[in-house]
Amino acid sequence: MDSDRGAGARLTVDLDAIAANWRTVRDTAITAEAAAVLKADAYGLGLAPVARRLAAEGCRTFFTALASEGEALRRACPHARILVLSPVVALDAEVLERAALVPCLPSIEEVDAWVARARDRGRPLPAALHAETGINRLGMAADAVHAVATDPSRRAHLELVLVMSHLASADAPADPASHRQRERFDAVRAMLPGVAASLANSAGVFLGADYHYQLVRPGICLYGHDPHVHLRDPRVRPVAHLHATLAQVKTVAAGEGIGYGATHVCAAPTRIGVVLAGYADGVRRSLSWPGAGPRYVAAVGGHPAPILGRVSMDMITLDLGAVPTTVAVPGAMVELIGPAVPIETMAGCAGTIPYEVLTGISPRVRRAYLPTAEGRAPGDTR
Ligand SMILES: *Cc1c(COP(=O)(O)O)cnc(C)c1O
Repeated sequence: MDSDRGAGARLTVDLDAIAANWRTVRDTAITAEAAAVLKADAYGLGLAPVARRLAAEGCRTFFTALASEGEALRRACPHARILVLSPVVALDAEVLERAALVPCLPSIEEVDAWVARARDRGRPLPAALHAETGINRLGMAADAVHAVATDPSRRAHLELVLVMSHLASADAPADPASHRQRERFDAVRAMLPGVAASLANSAGVFLGADYHYQLVRPGICLYGHDPHVHLRDPRVRPVAHLHATLAQVKTVAAGEGIGYGATHVCAAPTRIGVVLAGYADGVRRSLSWPGAGPRYVAAVGGHPAPILGRVSMDMITLDLGAVPTTVAVPGAMVELIGPAVPIETMAGCAGTIPYEVLTGISPRVRRAYLPTAEGRAPGDTR
């Protein structure tokens, strides 16, 4: 599948699944534009390949967290509209202009820094306003939005393309917090007639049409995880598959400990497998067994292989008792995330969330993309 055949861990990213998930968002938020959030290297999956695929699918608007990410995205997608969620104008103005990025301005001070820049240039600069409606992170209060909206001397220097805010609890549909945020957002939006509005992240998309406005900003659901705590949407397809090489198989005698600290001592002779992925690859140390959470179970040829002892920097150890000896052979690829090991399960065992698992998969892990080059459709210039 990939030309690089060395041992270690490999992340396979299913670009068709990302495209299908984006179409699901588009068809759910039917009256809104479906953008895509590509911050943190497209949640660890690879900024350029993911962006190119989404652009080919029809996605026109992208969000990054940092201006530097936006500049990298500009190289991959020369014609896209790119908004930066966490700009600091004093530090980022040059890059923002150079790469034609649109800052989501989160305070009146940031607005004024951008306005000053526009005044220097002698032309209005594009901008989004980020309103605070209840998450109390980035964003400006309603009175600050009002001050900008009603001030012709500021408005003259801004080409306002979007007013946005961010939901704190959209993954819990029963929580009244989202409704309250929506009411506050409606008040802010009314100050800027004619400016497109955006409130929904992935979870917000599935909260219903009331949350869609003119543009939705999904991230994690494109990458294979529906963040709703209960009742995940079955149309969201898994995207990320993490495998690592089984390097050694051996039987350890009763009474022997496994790994650093010998936190697991074998009660009986145990056939173990040593797998070449550890915390330096993003296989979190909190997956160690025994540990705080439920026991993590990898898969070898579809057979369950529970973790034993601590996760170390470059390897983990599995109990191969339930894996046929013909399957568990050195060189075999062990499934760490995939059809038999959902990312939600791995994250739960590690005491974290799929977002952190994906963005934590380190650069040492080789990336491979599906469909492969041979699988490309004619005319696909990816
Ligand atoms: C990260 C982020 C998103 C995307 O959130 P998901 O939960 O991954 O869909 C949308 N908007 C803002 C402001 C964000 O920071």
